[in-house]
Amino acid sequence: MTYSLPVVVESANAAPVVRTLTPSAGGLKQSPTTLVDSYGRTIRDLRLSLTDRCNFRCVYCMDPDVRFMRKVELLTDTEMLRLVKVCVGLGVRRVRLTGGEPTLHPTLTALIRDLRDAGVEDIAMTTNGSVATREELRALKNSGLDRLSVSIDTLREDRFTQITRSSTGVARVLQTIADARDVGLTPVKVNVVVMRGFNDDELVDLAGLAREYGVDVRLIEYMPLDSGKRWTMEKVVTADEMVERISAEHELAPIGRERKQSPATGYTFADGKPGRIGVIASVSKPFCGACSRLRVTADGKVMPCLFSRDEWDLRPLLRSGASDDAIAGALAEATWSKQAGGQITTTDYSAESRPMSAIGG
Ligand code: SAM
Ligand code: SF4
Ligand code: SF4
Repeated sequence: MTYSLPVVVESANAAPVVRTLTPSAGGLKQSPTTLVDSYGRTIRDLRLSLTDRCNFRCVYCMDPDVRFMRKVELLTDTEMLRLVKVCVGLGVRRVRLTGGEPTLHPTLTALIRDLRDAGVEDIAMTTNGSVATREELRALKNSGLDRLSVSIDTLREDRFTQITRSSTGVARVLQTIADARDVGLTPVKVNVVVMRGFNDDELVDLAGLAREYGVDVRLIEYMPLDSGKRWTMEKVVTADEMVERISAEHELAPIGRERKQSPATGYTFADGKPGRIGVIASVSKPFCGACSRLRVTADGKVMPCLFSRDEWDLRPLLRSGASDDAIAGALAEATWSKQAGGQITTTDYSAESRPMSAIGG
């Protein structure tokens, strides 16, 4: 197959830059067989955003007046499935469904079944835990979903309302954690974004969810991906500090990373209680050297890195009758451009990229 080198289209406000790839008579003459970047990292994990919409407006993610994409801009299930099939052919083994809130996707169960049939080995999903019932989770499991991550940042009702700006209560999300575990979407991971002055005083209680529910609680450093651009370094609680503060209450035994590409460094409880703690040091100790992830947004843009300013637009290819080889070529081109990492090192870092809700965390 052939495909051209990228055409750079500057967006109106300079960032992000959207790149489109068009099959042509020029360019490379070989079909790619794997997705490898210029630093030698191979892509095995796809994060697929099903929608940018959400019923929450978490303070670290989405402002109340966020503007969502128009439906026509979003990839259809058929387009997503085709993309994933091409990715599987290029060595992608694991897909994480995310958003926005992926459980708002109207045909989620059918989509998961199709992804399973397409040969994805491991399908996981991240949710805010406010939408799907136990029976719906069971149906997702039966359709091929392997694992669920549920986000919750506080156990205090008043604070939950302040952080999520929703009418959902803490009990609803805790029920989802229990339901996910009971229907076998295991190991269930519980995501907590830790922000100094917001919820860091609850670190020990949140870690206690691991012991109580027998799940993996993953404490995530706050990243500069909030649409309100209110992130500052002072609000980041480092992974080291989190471990130190939890250790003062529960002795922790380090178990390292699940896989070398895993973002979380893990711990078990030294007293043998069930559950695990994982800390994700995205800001203080980025784990970019082993990154095996590629993200596709709900409108079909490839984001090689969470902090990419360049987006590679696949939608024109998907909607113009391009061959699978051409799409594979575009994915390979985008992957090759993957940057070394996020480099959030300064206190005045200001994210110019999309917010987390529009990327897919
Ligand atoms: N709506 C779903 C949820 O909240 O789980 C899935 C999408 S959300 C963007 C995916 C993950 O990103 C969540 O665990 C969320 O807590 C995390 N996240 C969002 N904004 C973040 C930020 N600024 N820093 C760190 N993690 C963030
Ligand atoms: Fe919605 Fe998830 Fe973002 Fe919260 S973190 S606003 S639940 S997409
Ligand atoms: Fe991968 Fe970019 Fe995240 Fe580093 S910052 S782990 S390269 S997605």
